[in-house]
Amino acid sequence: MKNYKMVERNKEQVCLLCMSRKADARGSHFAPAGLIKHTIGKRNYEEAYAIDLANPNIDSHFGRSNLKNTDPTPTADLHVADHIFCQQCENDLARIESKVIPFLDKKILVASPKQEFRQHVISPEGILMETDSFDRKTFLLFFYSVIWRISLQQRLESGSVLVSIGFDETIRRFLSIWINNSPEEFAKANVFFPFEVVLLTSTARDIEGATFINPSIYNSNPYVFYMGPFIGLIYYEAGPGTNKITGIPAVLVSRTYANDGGQKSVRVIDMAKEAWDAANYVMVDYGHKEYLMNMVKLVAEKKRISLRDAGILMQHKTEEMLQSGQGFDWPAAAQAAFESVVK
Ligand SMILES: [Zn+2]
Repeated sequence: MKNYKMVERNKEQVCLLCMSRKADARGSHFAPAGLIKHTIGKRNYEEAYAIDLANPNIDSHFGRSNLKNTDPTPTADLHVADHIFCQQCENDLARIESKVIPFLDKKILVASPKQEFRQHVISPEGILMETDSFDRKTFLLFFYSVIWRISLQQRLESGSVLVSIGFDETIRRFLSIWINNSPEEFAKANVFFPFEVVLLTSTARDIEGATFINPSIYNSNPYVFYMGPFIGLIYYEAGPGTNKITGIPAVLVSRTYANDGGQKSVRVIDMAKEAWDAANYVMVDYGHKEYLMNMVKLVAEKKRISLRDAGILMQHKTEEMLQSGQGFDWPAAAQAAFESVVK
C-alpha cells in the first residue's frame, strides 16, 4: 500500500506560489490542517487516502492511535510536503488560515449557525446562509488558496492537471499578489476576484462520514472541489457553464447565489443531509468505478485475458478479500485483490 510518489523537491528550487524566492519551507500543508480535522479525524486518529485513479494505487495514512493502523512504522503524511513554498508564502498562508478557520469552526460548521446569518430557503435541499460579520475578501482568498493547493498537490503527485493551465496560473498569480500583501493593504484594496465561487457545506452531515479531500474529477465548468466539509464550485469561464455538477441539485448552484463581484457578504449554501450524502455518494462511486476499471485493464494486460474475464476475476477476488477481512472497506479490498491477482 506504500506507493506514494510525490515529486522530490529541494530547498534550492523556486517557491511554487510566488515563483521568486527559494522553497525553503518544510512541512507545508496542501489541504489546511484546520479543514482536514473535520474530515480525517484528530491528530493521531487521522485517516487519509490519496487515490490515484490513473495508476491504481491507494496510499493510506493512519494516525498512530487509529485502530486501522496495524503498521508500526510511521507513514508519510499525505497532506504535507517539504520545499514547495518559501517561508514567506508559508507564513502568509498560515495567517489567512488562522483568521478563517475559527470562523468556519465556530460560525459555519456548528450544528445551528443561526444567529449571525440571514437565511434564505432555496429549496428543500438547501438554505443560503449569508453574513456580513466576516470579511468576504479574506474568506474568498482562503478558499482560492485551498483550491489552488489541492490542484497543485494533484499535479505534483500524478503529473495530471485537473484544471486548465490558464486557470492554474491565473489563480497562482492572484494568490501571490494578495497573500503576500500586508493585512492592512489587503483590507483597503479593491480586490477583483477573477473566478466566481459557490461554497456548499452541510451542517447536518455526519462528521464521521467523509474521509477524503480531493479535487474534481469532472471536466466541467464550474470545476468541482471536494474539500472535506466543503464542496467548492469555481467558475473558470463566464457564461452559463456546462452545469454538469453531478450529484448537486442544480437549484442550489444557481449563480444568483454565487460569491460574485456584486456581493459584499459571505455566502455559503447549507445543504440538507440527504442532498449532501447524495452528492458525496456520486463522487465516491465515480471514483470507485474509475479505479476498478483501471485495475481491470492492468489485470487483463498482465494475464493476457479479455477485459470481461479480468472484470469477473477482480470482482470475485474483491468479494473474497472483503469476506476474509483482508480489506476493511471496498477500495482496500480491491487493492488487495489486485495485488494477489497480478503477483
Ligand atoms: Zn513564495
